[in-house]
Amino acid sequence: MGAVLFLAMKTSHRLLIIAPHSSYRIAPYLQAAESLGVDVTIASAGEFSLISVINKGLHIDFAKPEQALAEIILAAEKTPFTGILGTDDMSVALAANVARALGLAHNPSEAALLARRKDKARACLEHAGVAVPMHRRIELTKPTTAQLEVLEYPCVLKPLAMSGSRGVIRVNDLESAQNAIVRITTILRDVEEPEESAAVLAETFIAGREVAYEGLLSEGKLKTLALFDKPDPLDGPYFEESYYISPSRLPDEVQKEIKDTVAAACRAYGLQQGPVHAELRIDVNDKVWVMEIAARTIGGECARLVELVTGQKLEKLVLAQLMNLPRPVIDFKGGAGVLMIPIPRAGILRRIEGTAAARAVPGIEEVVISVRDGHELVPLPEGSSYLGFIYAVADSAAEAESVLREAHSHLKIVTAPLFKIAGAPD
Ligand code: ADP
Repeated sequence: MGAVLFLAMKTSHRLLIIAPHSSYRIAPYLQAAESLGVDVTIASAGEFSLISVINKGLHIDFAKPEQALAEIILAAEKTPFTGILGTDDMSVALAANVARALGLAHNPSEAALLARRKDKARACLEHAGVAVPMHRRIELTKPTTAQLEVLEYPCVLKPLAMSGSRGVIRVNDLESAQNAIVRITTILRDVEEPEESAAVLAETFIAGREVAYEGLLSEGKLKTLALFDKPDPLDGPYFEESYYISPSRLPDEVQKEIKDTVAAACRAYGLQQGPVHAELRIDVNDKVWVMEIAARTIGGECARLVELVTGQKLEKLVLAQLMNLPRPVIDFKGGAGVLMIPIPRAGILRRIEGTAAARAVPGIEEVVISVRDGHELVPLPEGSSYLGFIYAVADSAAEAESVLREAHSHLKIVTAPLFKIAGAPD
């Protein structure tokens, strides 16, 4: 069950936010709406009010999307909406269907599936002539050796639908591919969807530099918000994110090629509006390859990075575009970056030393530690999280990077080995 909730302020702009009740994105979107003078209605699951300032609303059930759609359309007859926002992967498809039914700008609901399924995404982009690695599915229900023998090495093996580089492994020959398949099969035990646990995607390994792109689409036209270099080599065998630094130090022509490639990928997906997040690789010949593209903002804590390099909150930029309001002024001259603090080794976290010294480095905005003493640290490819984040702002991208490196050098991650009792469950 869920709720449609009304804020007191009256304007001619009313936004419908469709969100799972636990979404951490609700609060920043409410703040952004308030700062833009936009009234908000929230449709969500949950019997109780979501946020203390809100106390009534219409309930929907995400497990019954057709019924939820009908209920929201009924509510819209009484209180018309001028913009619809799906905050999270589970609500973007419903948001797209609501917007379509109300005749508002929207993305195709299938785009949410493409963002989730790497094999379908690759096929869609390849069909549209966008550069993606050569790829094929390895069916785990059939003998795998014959399927692995015909691959060209080095290549990358990965689950069909996971995120955060979980289960992504570079392999250089048949033997390491066979070992990787065993590891990925174990990781896939967590996957509920039968099709998604029955195959692995194999791709040619694209050597090169990697960037992350954040943009906003408005009626199909793409605007860049930020382009981040990832200055540490990402050659595998595992692909842990570390530094994101902006503005990009790549030549202008390469940056233009990156934007054109993202725009082509958006057209291939049929995306018309809203945020776009992409990860791309640039090979030795400056050819730009799409690693990943999704109709959403960059995940979690990294949204803060967009604020650092635009001077505006990401949610405010997204809502201003969605509600057709004047775009907040983006004004940032220096450099900024984040380090997703990597897990140095597996074990039990005892303590993290040196955070005060890291915070004291000039240019460091914030050091966020998101794990606690006693947590089990699981590095990639099996694990999926980071120790935390370090944010920096400086006069240039190069300086932001060196400030982050210096701050990181102060951190000492103290771990103890984890001893499992033989026969105990994992
Ligand atoms: P996820 O969605 O879990 O982050 P991706 O498929 O985007 O997984 O892969 C994660 C990272 O692994 C990429 O950002 C890239 O660094 C590396 N990677 C994945 N596929 C390839 C490839 N075909 N060639 C080179 N690097 C790759």
